[in-house]
Order: sequence, then C-alpha cells, then structure tokens
Amino acid sequence: DIELDENVLFEDLLLSKPVLDGLKNAGFLKPSPIQLKAIPLGKLGLDLIVQAKSGTGKTCVFSVISLEHILASKSKSLQVLILAPTREVAIQISDCIKSIGQSFAKCHCFIGGQSINQDKTKIKNCQIAVGTPGRINHLIEQNLLNTSNIRFFVLDEADKLLEPEFQDSINLIFSKLPENKQILFLSATYPEYMASYATRYMRSPTFVRLNIVDPSLRGIKQFYKITSYSNLSNKCFGYKIDELCKVLSSVQFQQAIIFVNYQIKAESLSSSLNERGWQSIYTSGHIEQNQRNFAMNQLKNFKCRILVSTDLTARGVDAQNVDLVVCMDLPTDPETYLHRIGRAGRYGCQGKAVSFVTEKEESAKFDEIIESYNLKIAQFNDGLDDIVL
Ligand code: ADP
Ligand code: MG
Repeated sequence: DIELDENVLFEDLLLSKPVLDGLKNAGFLKPSPIQLKAIPLGKLGLDLIVQAKSGTGKTCVFSVISLEHILASKSKSLQVLILAPTREVAIQISDCIKSIGQSFAKCHCFIGGQSINQDKTKIKNCQIAVGTPGRINHLIEQNLLNTSNIRFFVLDEADKLLEPEFQDSINLIFSKLPENKQILFLSATYPEYMASYATRYMRSPTFVRLNIVDPSLRGIKQFYKITSYSNLSNKCFGYKIDELCKVLSSVQFQQAIIFVNYQIKAESLSSSLNERGWQSIYTSGHIEQNQRNFAMNQLKNFKCRILVSTDLTARGVDAQNVDLVVCMDLPTDPETYLHRIGRAGRYGCQGKAVSFVTEKEESAKFDEIIESYNLKIAQFNDGLDDIVL
C-alpha cells in the first residue's frame, strides 16, 4: 500500500523551503502515494475529501498544507483549526506539525483533561490549533479562541467526527468559522450514509481516494478464532484469556494492542495478563489524562509490549512497532474493525490481526463485518508456520 515512486521527491511538489527543510528534519524523505496525490490539490485551495488506508500518511498531508497556509499569509494570528476525535490523536497531530514546522510555525494542542489556564497562554501565540471538539467548542464559547482569521479547517477521522456524539460541537464550531475557508476531511473509511453529511459543510469537494476497492491493508494477515464460551457482561473473560495467551505464545510479535469493548474489561484483562506473566498496561477514556498519555508514551517508546485498550485507540494512533492486533470482543461496526486492525502494519509494515468470535453471540456480527468490506479472514491455528512473521 506504500509503493513509493522512487523518482518523486517532496521537492517536486513545489513546497516552500521551510516546509521542505522541516520535512527532512522530521524524517519524511519521499512522499507517500496519498501525499503525492492530495498535497498539490490541497495547495490549490480546494476542499478535499481524502480517503486512504490506515497508516499511509494522511497526517502529513494536512500538516504540510497547514504549514503552507501560515507561510503564505505571513500573519501571526490563528489561521488553521484541526479537529480529531480523541485527545491521543490530537496530541499526535500537533507533535507531527511541530516537528515539521518547529523553526517557523506556532502550533498548540487543546484538549479536555488539561487546564484551561494553560490554554489561555498557548492560544495567544498560536497559528495552528489542534484539538478535540469539546475543548475547542468550549474555548470558542468562552471567547478565548478567536476564529475570525481561520482559513483552513480540517477534520481528521472525519466520519467519526460526523457521528452523533460530536455533531453538536462540530456544528457550533462550524457556525463560528468565517465563510471563506478551505476544508479537508480525512479518513480510511466513509460509510455510505456519511456522504450527505460530509458534503453539507463543503461546496463542491474533490474526492481524493486511493485503493478503496479493497480497504484492508495488504500487509496485515487477518485471522479469526472461534471460542465456545464468553460471558459478555462479566468482568472476567473466562475461556478467552487462555485463548489469548495461546495466541500471544504462538505469534511472533514486537508489540500488540488488544481491543475490548468495555472500559472495565480493559483493566481486568490487563491485570489477568500480568498475573499470567504477560506484562501489559491498559488505557481507556475513563482514566486520568496523564495516565492515558503515559500509556501512549510507553507504547510509542517501546517500553511496553502489550497495550489493552478500548476503542479509544482504535483510530489514528500511530505506534510504529505494533504488529499484532487482537479483538477480544468484536467491534460494534465494520469500520471500527478496519481501524482497529490498521493499528498494525503502519506505513507499509507487516502485521497480524486475530479476532475472537464467540460462536453464538458474535457470529452474526462477524458475518456482517466480513460482508461489508468483502474481507478475507482465515481460521487461526495455534503453532502454524505461517503465523510466524
Ligand atoms: P494515517 O493517518 O494515514 O493512518 P499517519 O499519518 O499516522 O497515517 O502515518 C503513518 C506513519 O507513517 C507515521 O509514523 C508517519 O510518520 C509515517 N509516514 C508518513 N508519511 C511518511 C513519508 N512520506 N515518509 C516516511 N514515513 C512517513
Ligand atoms: Mg490518521
């Protein structure tokens, strides 16, 4: 999914010198296919709906366009607003923009779970604001964030941000933005029912899509395992924990994310794994933000091998060495399945995904996931040679 055109460099995209230098410093040497396609269109000022698989470099697309915006304007005011559905993804985006634009751009992150007082200081010296809808909306309503000079508005994981849970905040934020602005939506998935929502905000968006006929990553081998017993409402996983330990022993992996559907399960599964000698940490939306940040940093800095998580980290999270994803519970919708397994196989890497399917309770859901995206998922057998990377 990352077939680089060896002959094309970022220099060929007619970017400004500071951005080119910034890309080099940040370790971006050649544009990925989606960057090659979307950056020039974005630079023209078009509204774009960008769709490309997980881990193919969408963050860099809008980072570069954001930085070109502020260089062109030569103004110190807030000109770019970027929204993400989770605090973790917002932090990751601002880190990316800061690393490319460190010598010339002021970018800050505004998320819940952090002091508003700090936000007040940061916003005074900010050209690019990245945040979650709740906090950004709050800052606008308190007249702390001045939207009048915003010329570029980005929704990363756009289909998620257009779901009902965010709709009010997004509409309010949108209503406060100037009429004249460029808009970018990005995601690996756009369920069909989203199309009308998406275009409500834009006049005549250009679709930039790559490889969407087969939306699963070629580098990720997908497996399922039928388990005969589950106790979905119970804290304890019973039979599934033994199955999980078998998977962890028989698959060679560097780092793994194990997804569960409920916060309470994340905590209990993590401690059960620890008891069985599989050192793990967990994260979910219900724990303190500093604990959530700690978990992300441990994962990204290779300090923990196994992260147990709710769907908090199903989207956007980029941890380069994660090469195994396990779905202890099946996700509620097919899109979330694709996003979960996309946590492995970042930027063309190889990975594996194993889903546990309890025979009675989950088989209908499993069929729906397979059919929605025409997925090829093989039965998992412990100890098979092809499981070893
Ligand atoms: P997406 O948003 O499409 O899921 P990300 O933007 O998170 O993907 O990028 C995935 C990974 O690929 C990140 O670690 C990022 O640093 C890396 N990456 C992106 N573009 C490039 C590039 N042109 N060269 C090298 N690495 C890249
Ligand atoms: Mg992304």
